Amino acid sequence: MANVVVVGAQWGDEGKGKIVDWLSERADVIARFQGGHNAGHTLVIDGEVFKLSLLPSGIVRGGKLSVIGNGVVLDPWHLKKEIEGLRSQGVTITPETLMIAENAPLILPIHGELDRVREAQASVAKIGTTGRGIGPAYEDKVGRRSVRVADLADDATLELRVDRALVHHDALRRGLGLEPVDRDALLADLRAIAPSVLEYAAPVWKVLNEQRRAGKRILFEGAQGALLDIDFGTYPFVTSSNVIAGQAATGTGIGPGSIDFVLGIVKAYTTRVGEGPFPAELHDDDGQRLGERGHEFGTVTGRKRRCGWFDAVLVRQTCATSGVNGIALTKLDVLDGFETLKICVGYELDGTRLDYLPIAADQQARCTPVFEEMPGWSQSTEGARSWADLPAEAIKYVRRVEELIDCPVALLSTSPEREDTILVTDPFAD
Ligand code: GDP
Repeated sequence: MANVVVVGAQWGDEGKGKIVDWLSERADVIARFQGGHNAGHTLVIDGEVFKLSLLPSGIVRGGKLSVIGNGVVLDPWHLKKEIEGLRSQGVTITPETLMIAENAPLILPIHGELDRVREAQASVAKIGTTGRGIGPAYEDKVGRRSVRVADLADDATLELRVDRALVHHDALRRGLGLEPVDRDALLADLRAIAPSVLEYAAPVWKVLNEQRRAGKRILFEGAQGALLDIDFGTYPFVTSSNVIAGQAATGTGIGPGSIDFVLGIVKAYTTRVGEGPFPAELHDDDGQRLGERGHEFGTVTGRKRRCGWFDAVLVRQTCATSGVNGIALTKLDVLDGFETLKICVGYELDGTRLDYLPIAADQQARCTPVFEEMPGWSQSTEGARSWADLPAEAIKYVRRVEELIDCPVALLSTSPEREDTILVTDPFAD
């Protein structure tokens, strides 16, 4: 039996929702291993729309175990709201179907406040955070001053943890011109929410290892994209956690050897939200057209996403850092009707050809893309379910992508519909 990790292999918004949904139907356990309630999946099952941002996709399907690993930062108030929302839609959520790592750090209201205050200070380039406190909660984790799920169970420990956090936060808040934290109110809020979290608290590492030994199929559901990884992304315009596949192990407590297949989700072109380097970005009609055909507007903010040609250099890099075994190539249909397509195959930096994106910010800014041109296709690929449904030029494009990124296509997606998928390799196959 195989355990599969799904990671976005670009800057997020690759279409993970559809693929994760498709895979979660085949999995027994679905685990999240990083990020917070910023994931934003919309699942449509039998015509009903479910919105998830914290809970794993498996939660809406009966008979699955959903797991929130220690790598996630958990907003308890959001958790309660998301659970209540799903319950009102008829989804059953019990401690048997949802488990939350006891060692997961909490996002507190002061984290969201800090996020928003810092982002509003326009003196430095904005990182483009979602303002939900995810970054500051990870800072506290590394600073060893988090309140974690297990701390909610014992009042003396809870007070100690809160006091430890406040030594730091009150000093920081003074510098930012904010009032000190109302300790008693924060403690009262935490005591009130505690039962809603503790109900699901479990030694997730142990449960997952038992499930693995019992031969269950585990799907590790990544959020965001590998180019937003705190170490390997376009720092500092990144998220505050590791996003790459290795995080599935450290963010849940299974060994790296327990991962059998890493599926990278890759869009047939490139998009990016907010600030940061983007060498293959388009500022012309082609970029406009990609954005319109691909509906590249943020689901929550409505913000227009930046669009560009497929960047094979970046995807080859993320496939390497995540050890991707196969990709799911999505939104191929968005490329329908372009006379000519371009693929970024390298960068030029001060007269030298590079086959990777350098780390130094000034070098990244000076990298100009080297494009290869390919003929487009006029036929529609929308809804194609087999290779035979694709025009020869589309197949050539896919084959060239595989060659350039040094990784095979396992799945090909040709519309938002679940069934409009061409399966080449089943990641869960033995
Ligand atoms: P995520 O952030 O990676 O989870 O991306 P989403 O799941 O939000 O996907 C972005 C959008 O692309 C959603 O509206 C999907 O319905 C849509 N989508 C996914 N796959 C395809 C595809 O193959 N073709 C088209 N046209 N749209 C797709």
